Amino acid sequence: MDITGKKLIDNLGEYRQYTTAFYENLPLGYQSLDEDGRLLRVNQAWLTMLGYSRDEVIGRWFGNFLTPDSQSLFRGRFPIFKVSKWVKDAQFEMLCRDKTHIVISLSGQIESDNQGDFQCTHCLLHDITKQKEAEIALRQSEEQYRQMFETHTAVQWLVDPQTWQFVDVNQAAAKFYGYTREQMRQMDVAALNIRSPEEIAIMVAQVQSRHQDSFIVTHRLASGEFRQMEVHARPVNINGRPLLYAILHDVTERAQTEEALRKSNRELFFINQSWKALNSSLELDRVLKTVLDEVRFMLGAVACSIWLIDQITGELVCRQVTEPYEDVVRGWRLEPGEGIAGWVAQNGSSLIISDAQTDKRHFSGVDQKTTLQTRALLCVPLQVKQMVIGVIQVMDTIADNFQPPDLTLLESLAAPAAAAIENAQLHERLAEHAAQMEQRVVERTRELVVANEQLKELDRLKTKLIEDISHELRTPVASLILYLDLLERGKPDRHAHYIAVLREKMNQLVQLTEDILNVFRLDLFKGDVVFELLDLNELLIENMVYYRQRAQEANLDLLFEPGVNLPPVRAERKQLQQVMTNLISNAINYTTTGGVQINTGYDAERGQLYLRVKDTGMGIALGETPYIFDRFYRGQRVGQFNIPGSGMGLAVAKDIVALHGGTMDVESKVDKGSVFSVWLPAAENN
Ligand code: ADP
Repeated sequence: MDITGKKLIDNLGEYRQYTTAFYENLPLGYQSLDEDGRLLRVNQAWLTMLGYSRDEVIGRWFGNFLTPDSQSLFRGRFPIFKVSKWVKDAQFEMLCRDKTHIVISLSGQIESDNQGDFQCTHCLLHDITKQKEAEIALRQSEEQYRQMFETHTAVQWLVDPQTWQFVDVNQAAAKFYGYTREQMRQMDVAALNIRSPEEIAIMVAQVQSRHQDSFIVTHRLASGEFRQMEVHARPVNINGRPLLYAILHDVTERAQTEEALRKSNRELFFINQSWKALNSSLELDRVLKTVLDEVRFMLGAVACSIWLIDQITGELVCRQVTEPYEDVVRGWRLEPGEGIAGWVAQNGSSLIISDAQTDKRHFSGVDQKTTLQTRALLCVPLQVKQMVIGVIQVMDTIADNFQPPDLTLLESLAAPAAAAIENAQLHERLAEHAAQMEQRVVERTRELVVANEQLKELDRLKTKLIEDISHELRTPVASLILYLDLLERGKPDRHAHYIAVLREKMNQLVQLTEDILNVFRLDLFKGDVVFELLDLNELLIENMVYYRQRAQEANLDLLFEPGVNLPPVRAERKQLQQVMTNLISNAINYTTTGGVQINTGYDAERGQLYLRVKDTGMGIALGETPYIFDRFYRGQRVGQFNIPGSGMGLAVAKDIVALHGGTMDVESKVDKGSVFSVWLPAAENN
């Protein structure tokens, strides 16, 4: 060995000492193996890490300090190491002295001599047990989360907040939306959403800023079906990438139930309001119209109507209908049992018809009027105390548009509507009755005014009569006094004459007194006369036997021709009969040959009835007719023929007729006969 070589060897020795000291003081484990893999050197950190003493390890095969798996791994890799001359991050599981295991990461290289032959290994060992455990734990937890994501039945997404693209979706999501996971990973949130991009952007921003993390949205499935989804979303950071994680629930049914609940609440509120309105208002048509409008709106129907039974004809009459068919359908009449409405009214049970066009009971008359084709139909009877008073009907031009709950709603309304209609009808009848009563009062007042006038007239006539009577009695009484005086003081041979005159005057007085008494017996001047509706013919017939007897005695014919269909007269029975008797008696009295004809009739134009008494008697001189109705007036010729009478008959008749609002007239020709006519107003038939 030359000096240079020796120096080099010395230097090498120094170097080895230096490196040995370096490795010895390293905080990492250091080991050096010989060609067979036996331990040449280890540092203190190596011994501390595994718990052995130097004596226990030096010269032993490194594989002895490895678990069986790692041992076979080492056996395979060591020759490769020797060839490649370096190793990096080879991981082995080592056995510690206390039987525990640690995982080490080993890196190092081979030291060769100048010829390139193997000298030894220099490797550093790094205890990565903790790191490994953490890795395993992380892998496990990642796996758990992945499992949760993958297998969870709830729909879950990971979305890129920038592009809205699905980064991942779980199996449940793919199944729910009807796509494959691959397809969905190509899609973005907007493809499912029916919301506008602006709205989606707002939602994403709210989730990112954590202002709001739940929303209700509507998503379209691959099938085209729409579902209401409740979204819970949060920002997450996966592998340093900010994403949005969302979990979604299908709340369609819940939303539908909530909507149904809200609808039924609205309906209940409506029914309640309707009850109140119907019960509080007598303005039936207005309330019915409001109710019908509301029903139409709630059931989404085309038209609603209420039909009531006409109590007299039994027909169903349309009382109210929603616009714009009021003018066309209101007042429309259906025969009893006609149409679906008629069927419901007769059977008293509700009907829900899916298509009226295929129902034989359907009456198409109303359709023709409205030019609407009735398809779906609801019809419910209106009942009061078990009695059907009408029906309420809802129609639509789309078949199957009504469901059983709609019928239930309509039925709930039918009860208060029926009660309200009944109330209003009672009220209407009451109002009608009140109006009738008012009318009756007006009429009665008018009659009272007339009666009052009649009474005043009576009073006037009575006063006049008393004046007339006292005047008329004075003449015969004065004659009687005169002749009694003559009888007393006159010559006896004149006595017979005076007595004859006295008798005659006495007879006149008796006749006069009798006539006057007759007048008073007539009740004509009593205040409490009773007027009633009387038939003129009947009054005549009642006394016809008496008249015929009188005519027969006088050898005269008597003919009675009653008019037909006479309206009644408002009259006092005895008084009117007195008028008849006076006229017929006169006709018989003042007729010697021929006969008497009696006629009755009604002159519609004058609104008056007439009684006509015609005779073939002596007639009345033209100059006398103005006076014959005066009290106590007697014609010139009646005195000549010695026909008894007092001149009271016609005057009394005229007074009575005037009292009944009528008139009297006469047409007469001397020796031909006379016609006396009485005109009386026809009474109104109540
Ligand atoms: P009386 O018959 O008692 O005289 P009336 O008042 O009945 O009294 O008649 C008045 C007068 O009218 C009679 O006196 C008579 O001159 C005339 N008169 C009435 N009726 C007839 C008659 N039917 N024919 C002719 N003269 C009549």
